[in-house]
Parts: sequence; structure tokens; C-alpha cells
Amino acid sequence: MPKIVMKFGGTSVADLDRIRNVARLVKKQRDAGDEVAVVVSAMSGTTNHLVKLCNDLNPLHDTAEYDVVVATGEQVTIGLLAIALQSLGTPARSWQGWQIPILSDDAHSKARVDSIDGQKLLAAMARGETPIIAGFQGVTADGRVTTLGRGGSDLSAVAIAAAIKADRCDIYTDVDGIYTTDPRVVPRARKLEKISFEEMLELASVGAKVLQTRSVEMAIKHGVRIQVLSSFADKPGSLVVGEDEIVEKLVVSGVAYSVDDAKVTLRRVADRPGVAAILFGRLAEAHVNVDMIVQNLGADGTTDMTFTVGRGNLAQARVALEDVREALGYQEVLTDPAVAKISVVGIGMRSHAGVAARMFKALSERNINIQVISTSEIKVSVLVAAEYKELAVRALHTCFGLDGDEPPAAGEGQ
Ligand code: ADP
Ligand code: ASP
Ligand code: MG
Repeated sequence: MPKIVMKFGGTSVADLDRIRNVARLVKKQRDAGDEVAVVVSAMSGTTNHLVKLCNDLNPLHDTAEYDVVVATGEQVTIGLLAIALQSLGTPARSWQGWQIPILSDDAHSKARVDSIDGQKLLAAMARGETPIIAGFQGVTADGRVTTLGRGGSDLSAVAIAAAIKADRCDIYTDVDGIYTTDPRVVPRARKLEKISFEEMLELASVGAKVLQTRSVEMAIKHGVRIQVLSSFADKPGSLVVGEDEIVEKLVVSGVAYSVDDAKVTLRRVADRPGVAAILFGRLAEAHVNVDMIVQNLGADGTTDMTFTVGRGNLAQARVALEDVREALGYQEVLTDPAVAKISVVGIGMRSHAGVAARMFKALSERNINIQVISTSEIKVSVLVAAEYKELAVRALHTCFGLDGDEPPAAGEGQ
């Protein structure tokens, strides 16, 4: 019997009607003859609310206790979905992360999955009972609850698919596939029938939150076939596949944006060996991820250093920078959370020069100033003022020939 993991995101389980709809989709998949394991997120808005409670109490809270709070959202939806399925006469049982167990490290709030024992899930499926698993949750070796980072239910689903050797992992969400960019920002975005793992990984890592970055990494590691599709429309979605299955290797296949970063500038840092090591070493110890980095040309023995950190880590970054103030001898710290990172991604970039130049030209034609630039083999990213996010994404989508047909005007269509 084919084994399918079905994962439903927050909007798909946002209220009881939608949970009933999910129950019907699961029943339909079972009735088609598949063995099914289900992974669900918290009802939409719930995790944000729980995160806010922790932050309002103390922005520098203990992340082990943050995990205890935010992991509760998924407990509600597994129970509700199990009740909804049982009401349809379909045997189902809920599972929290620790009950499986989904073992993780102890990097609370962004824990990594170490291992998953699929035996209990497989046994349940073999006796005809559909497991309904809480996404996002892990447990440390000594029994503390963890969460797998925002969007982490995607990772739970892919990791479970790998553990039970599922034939496919279907990620049900509120759009009907993976598009050339966020269809909510660019209505003329085109749906991709297929996208390579590598492009999806790069797009996710620069902000296309349709799939969590780590879930794509996990899918690559274990060769899990992913389909992204809608829980509201009955039509095929987009497949994430090996590069060999992609016929047309586009120079740019997608545009992504992220408003999750903040820009930090250290003014007049001592310009001598070892300074960057101290600075970024201390930030790493404080578990602050640094993304883009630029160092200005030094003058009179000092230089300016600019980098981006996760917006949610700005408070921790400030504390870490205070710790090294004396060692670095900088003059002041400037922070700017009102920035957006815009990226273009495509495997065709490996064999085509000039992508960055085209990108910069399109932005300059709209008078958008570029603050920081970074590149990789198949990606170019720029940091711009947050107010230009949508304009920049649209300009690049058009410039790289990604626009699809004109969407129907308001009032047309269904
Ligand atoms: P879920 O709650 O189901 O996990 P998410 O909000 O995490 O859903 O992810 C789905 C959203 O991702 C879509 O509503 C869309 O706005 C956004 N998105 C960003 N980039 C893309 C893209 N390239 N293709 C499709 N959706 C995208
Ligand atoms: N509920 C968690 C979040 O909102 C996990 C997820 O939805 O994937 O981040
Ligand atoms: Mg998500």
C-alpha cells in the first residue's frame, strides 16, 4: 500500500469547518487505498499569539519555557482533527512529539531533529488507525519539550515521511502550489509544475515561506518527494524534484523577499586583525544568526561594519554587542529593522553571467537604493528599505520574464 504523509498548515485548520474539511480530505486519501499519517500546525494566528505572550512578559525570556508555551498550539489541533475523523467513522489517534518520540537537540525555539522512531506510527497505520501528529514539536534526550523553528511543521512532516519511508509528503496550504514569487504580492506570479530541490532550498532560505528551509534540507538528505497543494481547491500542486527532472533550467526561476531581518551598523570599529572574529564569535555564542555582512574601506584606523541579523534576535544582538564594546572600541551601534531582503534564484545562473547587473538596473530604474548585496552560486540578494519591498519584487519578476497572464479584473471570474 502506498504511504502518504499529509501536512496541513495553520490556515487549513483555522476553524472547525476547515478541520472538518481536512478530515474529509484525509478520509478520501484513505478510501483511495493509501496508508496515511497526518501532521498538523496550530490554528492560524495561535502561534503568533503565544510568541507575543512570551515576548510581552520578557523579550529576553528563557527559550526552554518559550517552547513549553508555543508547543501547545499544535496539541489543540491534533485532538480536534482526531475527533473530526472519528466522527466520520475513521479510526484516528493524536500524537505529540514526545510520544513518538521526535528526538531533537536542546537548541530551544529552533531545535534540530536528531532522530524519529517510526515504529509506533507504522504499527498504528498497519492496524488501520490514522496517526494525527503535532507538527513543530520535538523532545530532548532528557525529556524537555522543544520546537523546531517557525514554520517547523513542514520539517516535522518531511522528517516523519523519511522515518516511515513514505512514498510522498503532501504539504497542504492556502495556495495551490509553488509560484515564481509570492502570489499575494504579485498576482501575475506563475505556478511552477516542478521545481528543483536546490532552487526550493535557496528560495526558502531567503524568505519564500511556502516551505520551511530545514524541511527542504531534510527532503534532500532523505530523498523525500514533496508536493505543495491547496486544501481548498481540488487540483494538482507543485512537485519538488531532482534537478535531472527539470527540462528548462531558467536563469531566474523565482523571486523571494524577507522582512525578517534587521540591519546593524557598527560605526568606527578598530580596523585591525581579529576584530571580526571577536564580533561574530560573540554573536554566535549568543545564538544570533548573521546573514549579510559588509565592511567599509577603513580610514584613520577605523572602519564601519554592517550586517543583518534576524529581527527577532535584535535584543540579543544588542546585549552581545555591549559585551564586546571595550574589546572592539567602536563608537556607536545603529540598528534599522525597516529593511527588506529581495532575492532572485535560478539554477541557470551557473551558466549565465550578468544576472546581478540586470537586477541592479531594474532596481535603479525605480529609484530603489541598494544597501547591502550578497550572492551565491544560484542566488543574488539585495537589502533595500522595507517600504520598497513590493515594488522591488514586482520589478524583478517582470525584468526576468516571469510574469504570467494578466489576472482577472475584480468582479470577473468566480
Ligand atoms: P502554512 O500555514 O500552510 O504553513 P505558510 O503561510 O507558511 O502556510 O506558507 C504559505 C504562504 O507562502 C502563501 O500563502 C504565500 O503567501 C507564501 N509564499 C511565499 N512565497 C511563495 C511562493 N513562491 N509560492 C507560493 N507561496 C509563497
Ligand atoms: N505553528 C508553527 C508556526 O506557526 C509551526 C508551523 O505552522 O509550521 O510557526
Ligand atoms: Mg508554513
